[in-house]
Amino acid sequence: MRSSRSKDQADVEAVMKKGRVLLAAPRGCCAGVDRAVSAVERALELHGAPVYVRKQIVHNSYVVAALQKRGAVFVEETDEVPEGAVVVLSAHGVAPAVRAHARQRGLRVIDATCPLVTKVHREAGRFADAGYDVLLIGQPGHDEVAGTLGQVPGRIHLVSGPGNVAAVKVRDPAKVAWLSQTTLSVDEALATASALRERFPQLLDPPSDDICFAAQNRQAAVKRIAAESGLVVVVGSVNSHNSTRLVEVAREAGAPAHLVDHAGEIDESWLGCVETVGVTSGASAPEILVQDVLAWLGERGFDRVEQIWATQENVSFALPRELGRQYRASQTMAHAVPAGERLTEREGLVVEPADPGVISGAGQSLTGGVA
Ligand code: SF4
Repeated sequence: MRSSRSKDQADVEAVMKKGRVLLAAPRGCCAGVDRAVSAVERALELHGAPVYVRKQIVHNSYVVAALQKRGAVFVEETDEVPEGAVVVLSAHGVAPAVRAHARQRGLRVIDATCPLVTKVHREAGRFADAGYDVLLIGQPGHDEVAGTLGQVPGRIHLVSGPGNVAAVKVRDPAKVAWLSQTTLSVDEALATASALRERFPQLLDPPSDDICFAAQNRQAAVKRIAAESGLVVVVGSVNSHNSTRLVEVAREAGAPAHLVDHAGEIDESWLGCVETVGVTSGASAPEILVQDVLAWLGERGFDRVEQIWATQENVSFALPRELGRQYRASQTMAHAVPAGERLTEREGLVVEPADPGVISGAGQSLTGGVA
């Protein structure tokens, strides 16, 4: 009896050993997220707690909780910030009216808007100045979309998808241009742009890709692993638009896919007869959360991990200008990088500072986990 049970046990173990993990690369924190989180960290070092942050600095609950522990206070609007206090604006960008309101209240503003979002803001401004109506393809209610719509109120209209095109009202159908939210899936944006062009044949394209390199790279990587996976796990928060898009891209590529904030949210029943699990993470999810998922899978026999690269990514952005100046000054005073306690490696948020004042092509991603 005992030997039969041992054999069964050995059979089970043999089956479990078959599990394979395909780990997408690039994945996880992008240059804009690195910069934004780093901005809050530096602000805390320079000014001490509390540092106020308008909206979630990036859409990841783990990152937000880790920064709260360090003394960041997250608010919805700048009128919740005491006069004269330091406030960081999130990576998703804001309408000019938000900056003006913060200035009126004497707040010390650090603007962590991702430079790629700022690029879209400028494009909207240029089109509007030239007399065009701008059609913004994006997700209603998203923080980035709200900020972009606020750039040229009355001249910009949100289009959430092809089904929404018929309802769009413009002043002159011959003077329209489209832009998009940076984190859409490429296919989704092009499908809506194509529907717009049918209605407005003279529609102008954006001067350059609005969907950012990080979103595109992560989508390309998840497509590659999904093609060979019986299940794809995407690590990211439910309000992270780029993470939810990764789930959709994986499903479109034929794999069942689920979004989880952390390993504890994985349902063991998803594994079923799956032999290969694909794993990736959204552009705001720290690598430590991916490592926890790999450990969870490893405990269940999925212990052969192969990293699949779609492309190399080697981009970093300088700290926000206001902070870069202050940070340089503090370095001069101290002759050293401030030694204040930083988010720990366990928290997955240690960031080497980009050289303030330059945009570099050689920086380290937030968690550096894809090398
Ligand atoms: S996903 Fe792209 S646009 Fe968004 S913060 Fe990252 S780099 Fe910037």
